[in-house]
Amino acid sequence: MDATPELTGPDLKTGIAAADVRDDKPLLGHVDGQPVVVVRSGGQVHAVAATCTHYGGPLAEGLVADGTIRCPWHHACFELATGHAHGPALAAIACYDVALEGGRLRVGGTRTVATPNAGGPRSVVLIGGGPASIACVEELRVAGHRGRITLVTSEGSDPVDRPNLSKDYLAGNAPEEWVYLRTADALAQNDVELVADAATAIDREARVVRTASGRTFGWDALLLATGAEPVRLPIEGADLPHVHVLRTLADSRAIAAASSPPGTLDSGVVIIGGGFIGLEVAASLRARGVDVTVVARETVLLERVVGAEVGAFVQRVHEGKGVAFRLGRSPAKITPTSVVLDDGSELPAKLVVMGVGVKPRVELAAAAGLAVDRGITVDEHLRAEPGIWAAGDVARYPWGGERVRIEHWQVATRHGQAVARAMLGRPPRRDVPFFWSQHHDVTLGYVGHAERFDRAELHGSLGARDAHVVYRDAGKIRAVVTLGRDQLALAAELAFEHDDAAALEAAVR
Ligand code: NAP
Repeated sequence: MDATPELTGPDLKTGIAAADVRDDKPLLGHVDGQPVVVVRSGGQVHAVAATCTHYGGPLAEGLVADGTIRCPWHHACFELATGHAHGPALAAIACYDVALEGGRLRVGGTRTVATPNAGGPRSVVLIGGGPASIACVEELRVAGHRGRITLVTSEGSDPVDRPNLSKDYLAGNAPEEWVYLRTADALAQNDVELVADAATAIDREARVVRTASGRTFGWDALLLATGAEPVRLPIEGADLPHVHVLRTLADSRAIAAASSPPGTLDSGVVIIGGGFIGLEVAASLRARGVDVTVVARETVLLERVVGAEVGAFVQRVHEGKGVAFRLGRSPAKITPTSVVLDDGSELPAKLVVMGVGVKPRVELAAAAGLAVDRGITVDEHLRAEPGIWAAGDVARYPWGGERVRIEHWQVATRHGQAVARAMLGRPPRRDVPFFWSQHHDVTLGYVGHAERFDRAELHGSLGARDAHVVYRDAGKIRAVVTLGRDQLALAAELAFEHDDAAALEAAVR
């Protein structure tokens, strides 16, 4: 993003005292004008690029553990020995040569890590153009898979970085090129065929996928990453042209076009739903100077997900930026100029955005006879049956002693990478659910997954933007939310990863 990064710390090419590099403590310096981190881990010294390949986070401020360095912003994780990326990052970081001479440590040039042919399935078909598919494809190729890969998507655009669609892109702060996760050209360079078509049937017997245009694609390994469909409430006016949902790039563009430039609307925007989409759209449209009212049937925002205290705090943050709320209310109908609520009151609206949840796209899997239960049922390796995997929003998988379906970007990315490893017969990692959510200038991190909780313990001060909340169910920690405590979030994730309850308790104390 920034072509001339700001450099701090020593010139590592000139060298530093080897004793200055301490175990698991990243030391930031630079090599040939690029920021580089040196770290001693597991008895070895590594030098790697200091900038996260996801959103450019500062790896020197992250966590070093288990031979990896983790970004404090969105928990991308990189192998120190190879630079290999784990979600949400897709691209590796550069690794540098390190030489030790007479107690001094010098960093040389970047080194390439060779990947031998990994074997694996001769032909892989992926259905869905979201993060799970893209991450799977990247992981396969990076691992040295040379077989045929076909990605079938009906999304209507090249694969996009979906979090951007409700956040920076919608706010007008991100240029178009940031929106693409991978373009069709980039995929082609990686020898991946992108097929813009809708998959209509899966023949498990013949191992063939059929598409709407009549094409067929044979597979040895199949990934179903069909994602989820935004819900439209079944009320009068829900299909009027000024009523939008937000899932695709086309949806985000349409909402941006209908709400910009500021001042062109003679009445504001009504957002129906006080969940993540509703609130992030509210923040982004306020950034465009538009009047926004959020209508939500809950009386405390996000209470089921993050509890009453964080929910009330998030509401105050939005109100401080001029977002209006009508809580405890549902829309009764939508007219061309207004939204009529269930108490008879009427809110003027030229633009309406519905963010009332999504439902998993399971039809293809169900028609093919795969097990479906509010999602495609898969095992701990995300496998529906031998040769078929499901990942992302559509997959219901075992986590924390129950079956869960988690609708978050980071989870889908890591699922995709896990499926690639499984396709190549490589050992699994224990990936921990994580998401971040942005509300104006406040970013919340959420580690773990609480289907339910009976206690939410607040530590620190939300108002001071320095806090964390621990969510317990029957005494067991299920999830942790952090605000301004990135190191704690990373330590909690590591403890969840190790399934180490004592380390988790210590991390959140
Ligand atoms: P969501 O977070 O599940 O929120 C849905 C909202 O719609 C809730 O406020 C819900 O209220 C309300 N709702 C549901 N049914 C309704 C009805 N019949 N009438 C009125 N209100 C109703 O879903 P979303 O905001 O649409 O987001 C879609 C998906 O994208 C979610 O899975 C979300 O996690 C994901 N996403 C994540 C992020 C992130 O930051 N990580 C950002 C954007 C989107 P109740 O609580 O009362 O049910």
